Amino acid sequence: MNKLGFLTFLVWFCVSMNAQTIRIGLFTGSKIKELQLQVGQGTYLLQNKDDQTSNGAFKILFPSETYQFKVYNGLVQVYLRGQLQLQAASIVLTQKQQEDFCNWTLLSPASKMRSYEGDFEIGIYKGELRLINVIDIETYLEGVVSSEGGSGQRLPYYEAQAVISRTYALNNLNRHQNENYALCERVHCQAYLNKRTGTATIDTAVQHTKGLVLLTEEAKYYPTFFHANCGGQTCEPQYIWNEEIKGLQSFQDTFCIHTKQAQWVKSIPLEQWTNFLVEKYNFPVQDSMSSALLQSFHQTQRMAFYLHPVYGIPLRDLRDQFKLKSTYFDAVVVGQEMMLYGKGFGHGVGLCQEGAMQMAKKGYAFDQILRYYYPGAILTK
Ligand SMILES: [Zn+2]
Ligand SMILES: [Zn+2]
Repeated sequence: MNKLGFLTFLVWFCVSMNAQTIRIGLFTGSKIKELQLQVGQGTYLLQNKDDQTSNGAFKILFPSETYQFKVYNGLVQVYLRGQLQLQAASIVLTQKQQEDFCNWTLLSPASKMRSYEGDFEIGIYKGELRLINVIDIETYLEGVVSSEGGSGQRLPYYEAQAVISRTYALNNLNRHQNENYALCERVHCQAYLNKRTGTATIDTAVQHTKGLVLLTEEAKYYPTFFHANCGGQTCEPQYIWNEEIKGLQSFQDTFCIHTKQAQWVKSIPLEQWTNFLVEKYNFPVQDSMSSALLQSFHQTQRMAFYLHPVYGIPLRDLRDQFKLKSTYFDAVVVGQEMMLYGKGFGHGVGLCQEGAMQMAKKGYAFDQILRYYYPGAILTK
């Protein structure tokens, strides 16, 4: 491409800069040694991040070619068919049009391919490659709602999820400040495992709720925690995180109790269970009263502690240790097994996704769903 072509590209680039963008770390669970790129659709401009003038080196990328990125001597190197194309401390990739996207695959360690829209930055962090997606926040949210909400749901559910995810993103822009991006793409922040799926209902949900967020009465972002299924009662935040969160209290949820993740059963060898209690909490297993208590434990309401608060065994620790779906379970000794009969999936705080999906099926609007799970929240632009 000649100079004129380059300048034309810059004009396209500037036009697309109007929307609010967000920086998302990709493949953040891996130490990336080698990365592969194929343009999935459209055209990308590849440049040295520190020299984006028309004098700087650049390349135009088309869908037919496969590029590799590696680290060498503290620089990111870009290869095409084994030939070095460009090297720099940091590389930027700029899309020509809004729906252009890239397919990314890790070569070392190997990964499945993932597709993302928007622009990209490839730099070095602690000696490894770091890939950042720089993307319009509303387009990012379409990917998040696809990842978090799955397919086949009604519009009001996706609308509620879009408002929650937008509020969460804007409230956590500094979460990965040290890594030079706002949020990661994993459930640590919000799942963003691919670009939007192209499901019309999800795109419509994000567009309908454009700019809408939930605020507290003090005009701060509302703590929009959510989970898969509460099992019929949401959980007090302090049971999980040892702190009260204003606005979020436990309540009975009648919408989710007949859904697929409402109940679970798991058995743990009794010895394993009691060993953990003894080693971690000095549980007095020799004491006849305590060992009698261990025989059966029931939660008619959600509790914070196992058996009795006097033993100081938080249910959330048992959930972590034995990888349980929730802390909302009964535990009964049967022979040499501890049988667990549980309800719900996830921490249980805030909005229950399966309950919200049921509400949407029953004809509730997204603002009614949000008010039900987040009492006192103010829906605003
Ligand atoms: Zn994160
Ligand atoms: Zn629920």
